[in-house]
Amino acid sequence: MPNKPSTKPPDAPRLVPGLWFRRNPSRNEHFVARGAVLLFDGDLREVISYDPGAEADLLEEFSDIGALAASGDGVQYAICRFAEKYGPLGYFHFHEQPVAGEPIGWTEAHARGVHAALRLRALLDGGQDRETRKYLDTIWDGPRFGECGRTRPLKFWSAYRDANAVPQLALQVICHLVSPNIEGLRWALSESSGSPRLEMRYGALLEFIYWQVAQRVAREGRVKICRNCGNVFLTENVRAEFCLPLPGATFSRCRSAFNNRMHHKRAKKDLRK
Ligand SMILES: [Zn+2]
Repeated sequence: MPNKPSTKPPDAPRLVPGLWFRRNPSRNEHFVARGAVLLFDGDLREVISYDPGAEADLLEEFSDIGALAASGDGVQYAICRFAEKYGPLGYFHFHEQPVAGEPIGWTEAHARGVHAALRLRALLDGGQDRETRKYLDTIWDGPRFGECGRTRPLKFWSAYRDANAVPQLALQVICHLVSPNIEGLRWALSESSGSPRLEMRYGALLEFIYWQVAQRVAREGRVKICRNCGNVFLTENVRAEFCLPLPGATFSRCRSAFNNRMHHKRAKKDLRK
């Protein structure tokens, strides 16, 4: 039944609508072995369940790993922190043989794909054709679920520029990155408190993440690029221009920094007059 805490270990995934597994976040039990595999080494009895749909930052945090992967800084650390918070992405779900952990390269490749799809959407919405063209030539081809080998740098703009206008190609690339990874999702109708309820069934956290991406990119104005720091951020406010304020703060740090910079620029100009 949905909404009941589950104690199933993460190596036995079940299709539990709206629920996935999370380790006890107070224990540091994710680590990278030989730089290649993320291992889970905790007490399975401490696994707790949560609803990923209620985790407001999940998608943005995963996308941030993709941004880090592209710049090559601190990716493994970020992947471990993400796993501590949200649990495994579900590499084991796509493999019949037991696996020791989740390959770092696989996680990284998916994070890159997710980040690229979101950034492309934001660039498209901003009508930034020149930026979009440049970006299309830096992103990597996206992986499908179990695959590791299909990811590589692919110069989408240089390769496909003849047949497509920029916005059209960008949209096609977004679909190419996202669509294969939501093909395994299924819908079901179930009874809940005397009413029928439509539920999405997923077997891995990663499937859920791609589903969130699909919902984001299907509509305009819900992914933005911060005018100050250039990060991708998610918002429901179509007019938002800066990263959102940190929890507990009322003002965006990026907005303050940007305003300060503009103020200094204007002051300098005035001095020269
Ligand atoms: Zn920012």
